[in-house]
Amino acid sequence: MRITVDAERCVGSGMCVLTVGEVFDQREDDGRAVVLRPEPPAETWELVREAVDLCPAAAIVLSTDRRP
Ligand code: SF4
Repeated sequence: MRITVDAERCVGSGMCVLTVGEVFDQREDDGRAVVLRPEPPAETWELVREAVDLCPAAAIVLSTDRRP
């Protein structure tokens, strides 16, 4: 699993940080999300998916690594 946040869409609600703070943080200046762990450990995936559902701006994008 790989995470990116679309900074243009992010409204700084902080839901992702509240849901899984070991993966997301917020910038001090504008409150937009920062991805601390773009490739999060498997034990956080359920919470990461929850954060995706809770994000009011649909700014969190998940992708799956498809390495050969
Ligand atoms: S939940 Fe969505 S809108 Fe809120 S800070 Fe996180 S990425 Fe930004």
